[in-house]
Amino acid sequence: MFLRILIALLFMFFIGVQKAFCADLYIEDAIIDNSDKVILIRGTGNYKSDKTYTYTPNPESNSTKLINNITSFTMSNPYRFVLDIPNAALAGSSRNYKVTNSKTIQSVQLAQFSANPDIARVVVTLKSADLFTKFKVYSDGANIVLKYSDPVVDNSIQYKFYTTSGDMDKNATLQNTSAVVTYNNTGEELDLKPRLQTKYYLSQISQNSDGLILRGLGAVSYQRAVYNDDNTSAYLILDNADVAAKLENKSYNIPSSDRDIKATLTITKPTDKKVKLTLNGENLKDYRFVVSPDGQCLFISHRGYIINTIFSTNSAKIDSYSVSRTQTGYKIFDFVFNQSVTYDVFELGDNFYFDINNLGDYNEQAFEKFLKDSELNIQVIKISSDKTRFVIPASGLNFSYANVESNAKSIKLCFREKPAIQKPQTDPNEIIIVDNSSKNKPKENIKNVKDDEKVESTEILYIPKTDDKDKKEEKPQKPKRKKDTTISSMKKVVIDPGHGGADSGAIGGGVYYEKTINLEIAKLVEERLAKKDVYVYMTRTKDETLSLEDRVVYSNELNPDIFVSLHANSTVNSDIIGLEVHYYREESLELARSVHEYFASDKNLKKWQTNDRGIIKSRFYVINHTESPAILIEVGFLSNSSERAKLLTKDRQNEIADSIVKGILEYLKVNDK
Ligand code: ZN
Repeated sequence: MFLRILIALLFMFFIGVQKAFCADLYIEDAIIDNSDKVILIRGTGNYKSDKTYTYTPNPESNSTKLINNITSFTMSNPYRFVLDIPNAALAGSSRNYKVTNSKTIQSVQLAQFSANPDIARVVVTLKSADLFTKFKVYSDGANIVLKYSDPVVDNSIQYKFYTTSGDMDKNATLQNTSAVVTYNNTGEELDLKPRLQTKYYLSQISQNSDGLILRGLGAVSYQRAVYNDDNTSAYLILDNADVAAKLENKSYNIPSSDRDIKATLTITKPTDKKVKLTLNGENLKDYRFVVSPDGQCLFISHRGYIINTIFSTNSAKIDSYSVSRTQTGYKIFDFVFNQSVTYDVFELGDNFYFDINNLGDYNEQAFEKFLKDSELNIQVIKISSDKTRFVIPASGLNFSYANVESNAKSIKLCFREKPAIQKPQTDPNEIIIVDNSSKNKPKENIKNVKDDEKVESTEILYIPKTDDKDKKEEKPQKPKRKKDTTISSMKKVVIDPGHGGADSGAIGGGVYYEKTINLEIAKLVEERLAKKDVYVYMTRTKDETLSLEDRVVYSNELNPDIFVSLHANSTVNSDIIGLEVHYYREESLELARSVHEYFASDKNLKKWQTNDRGIIKSRFYVINHTESPAILIEVGFLSNSSERAKLLTKDRQNEIADSIVKGILEYLKVNDK
C-alpha cells in the first residue's frame, strides 16, 4: 500500500545518512542550545571518552589535544577556533550554520577535512575573541559536547537545543528538530532526546492517482474540517504544527481517478504553531482526511477511493475507553489503542462520523453496554473487514472539538450537548454603551528596577498599578461570546505550581514551604476553572520534583491557550511584602494585565494589608520558554511573618484563587457566571 511505501521511504531517508563510511563517529548535525551555552556535535557511532577537557582557545596558543585526540587551534580575522576530529565522517555535504541568537557565536561550520584518514572539521567563528575564554569538551559516545559558558551545574540541568536555520544545506537535516540534553552534577550527559519543536512538521507533499499525501515528522492531529454553506470551501487546522517554507502559500490539485472531480488544497500558516489546509472545489464534504498508521502522513482523497482502500493490515485493539463529563455539559470520549490507528473524521447530513481503518476485534457487547451506560448515543458499524465506523448523531449533540493525542494511539473526542431550549435572555453584551471619554485610559509608567535579586534577567520592566478609581467604567466590554457555534473549542489552561519534591522553593519561618502553598492555591484555581468551560492541566498535582524543562515540555506538548505558574516570594529583607505578576514575552502582557487587575485589586490590597509590586517583565525560564502566553504570579512574601500567616489561611488562598481565575476567564473571554 502506498502508505507503507512512503513510510519505508521516510525510514530510508533517516538511515540514509549513515551509509558506507568506516569511521568511529558519523557526524550528522551541529545543534546549538537556545540558552547560548552549549554546542552539540550530534552523531552516531562509538566515540566514548571518560574525560572532560577544559580548553582555553587563546589566540596565541598552539594546537592542543582535547579528548579522543581531537586537535584544536585558533585562527584570527575573524576569530575562529577549529576542532579536527579524527576517525570521524560527516554525513552529507559541508555546511555552515549561521547562529542568529547567540551573543558569542557567529557561525559553526562542518566539513570533511580529509577522507583518508577520516578527519571531520568543526570551525566555530566567534563574535569577538575575548567573549569566549574557555570551554569544556566531552563525548558520550555519539555526541561531542562543547560547553562554552559556565552554566550553573547543580543536580541535573537540561538544555534545549535547536538546529539553527539560516544558511543551512537543505540536504543536511530538518530544521524543525531539537534535542533535550540532561546533565548530572559532574557535567556528564545523562540523556539526549531529539524532539520536534512542534508536534508535527509537514515537510513534503506528493500525489498518487487518487489523492494528495502530506508527509512529515511527528504526529499530525487535526480538528474536524469546517465547511462553508455551499460546500465549495473548507478548512482544516493542524494543531501545534509547522510547515516547510517551500510548501507554504502553495496550492496543489487533489488528483482523482474521476476526472470530473476537482479540488485544490492551499497550505498557509495563520499563526506560529498552526497550519491551515484550505480546500476549494465542489462537494468538499466528499473528501476525507486519513491519518497514516504512524501518524506522520495525512492522505486527502475522495471518499469513493477511501472506502475501497485498505490502509493497514496491522489491526489495532482498543485498550481502553472511557467517557467523562464536565460540569458545563461537555462529554469527552477517550479511546486508547494498543497501537496507532489510521482514522478519519467527517460530517455528513446530521451525523458525525469517525472511521477507524484498522480496528481489529474487540468485545462488542461490552463496548455497546458501555456506550449505553454512558448515555452516548453512538452507533458502531463494521463497514468492511478493516473499517469500523462510529456514527454520532449531531442533532442533540453539538460537536465542538476533536483532538488526537500525539502518537495516534489515543483519540479524544469532545462533544457538547446542545442546551435545552432556553427562553431568550437578555445578554448584557448585546447592549454596548460606548464611552468616548478617554481621560481614564490607563497609562503605563515603565521603569527599570534592579533591586529584585530573584529575577534572573537583565531587562526588567516594572509597570506599577495605575491609579484607576474609575476602573469599572474603564473595563473594556467583553467581546460577544458566540453561543453554540459548531467550532467553539474549549480553552486549555496549564497551571504550574512552582517547585515541589526535593525543591521546596522559599522557606518561611523555617517550616513553611513555598512548594506547598503553591500547590494548595493551584488546586483551588484548578477547581474553579474546571467549573467553567475550561480544560485545566496541572504540571504537578502532588509533592513531586519537576525540572523547569519538564514543565515547559509538558505545556508545549499540550499547546494550551495560556500557562500560569504560581509561586510565593522570599527575600532577605523581612519587611518586604506584596504581590507580583511576571511576564516576559510581549504576547503575555495582556494576560498579565488581565490577571493583575483582579489579583492586585484595591479591595484585595486593602483587605489583606499588602502591596502591589506590579507587573514585572522578568526572564524566568518557564515563562520565557513556554510557547503560549505565560505568566508567573508571586502570591506574597513568606519571608514576612505577617504576610506568611495570611497566606497559610484558607481565606486568603481562596481569595487569591478567585482573583486569578477572574483574570484568566476575562483574558480567555470565557463567561464568568
Ligand atoms: Zn518560587
